[in-house]
Amino acid sequence: DDRIPRISSSIRVIPDFPKPGIMFQDITTLLLDPTAFKDTIDLFVERYKDKNINVIAGIEARGFIFGPPIALAIGAKFVPMRKPKKLPGEVISEEYSLEYGTDIMEMHVGAVKPGERAVIVDDLIATGGTLNAAIRLLVSFGWICSVNTTAVMLLHGLDNGTDAWLERVEVQVVECACVIELPELQGRDRLGDNPLFVLVSST
Ligand code: 5GP
Repeated sequence: DDRIPRISSSIRVIPDFPKPGIMFQDITTLLLDPTAFKDTIDLFVERYKDKNINVIAGIEARGFIFGPPIALAIGAKFVPMRKPKKLPGEVISEEYSLEYGTDIMEMHVGAVKPGERAVIVDDLIATGGTLNAAIRLLVSFGWICSVNTTAVMLLHGLDNGTDAWLERVEVQVVECACVIELPELQGRDRLGDNPLFVLVSST
């Protein structure tokens, strides 16, 4: 696809940011090129438009740039996955490890429902720790939802002899989608069985 090289060349690499030794992939230059930005969104939309995706889950902060236009184009809802203490409503949280220390990712309770099909969007996968936390957040939340549903059914005496209703219905993470992958860091390996789709691989 000849759109990929244009996207790739629109990403600026800034050495030693935010600290010495890091080659930072700066997507703000991609955003300055309307053709490259549109091509980026179009490639994701073409991939997900006919896959019954209900949820685009975007990771703060750069997943908030790429996620919403994809969600609008495919008719899915956009769910922000945020840094701690940013969301005003009831949240569920997942902790994840960074190079130094840990961080927390949060999502609003009620934002997703069991059985929904989600794509997680971020700009870049490095070690995979961030996407790993996002997957755990969506899957564990689906699990909480279905336990609650099961409890409601038990309360209403809906045990009709079949055990179909006991089946655990999770939010299904269809795929993780990033603009850039740093393959040397093998972040893919931290996503378990969840597929990863990327546009550009960078060394
Ligand atoms: P990981 O958890 O996979 O190690 O790191 C991925 C997260 O860090 C993503 O949310 C991404 O936005 C951010 N990140 C790490 N390195 C870079 C980089 O070089 N460029 C950009 N744009 N984001 C980065």
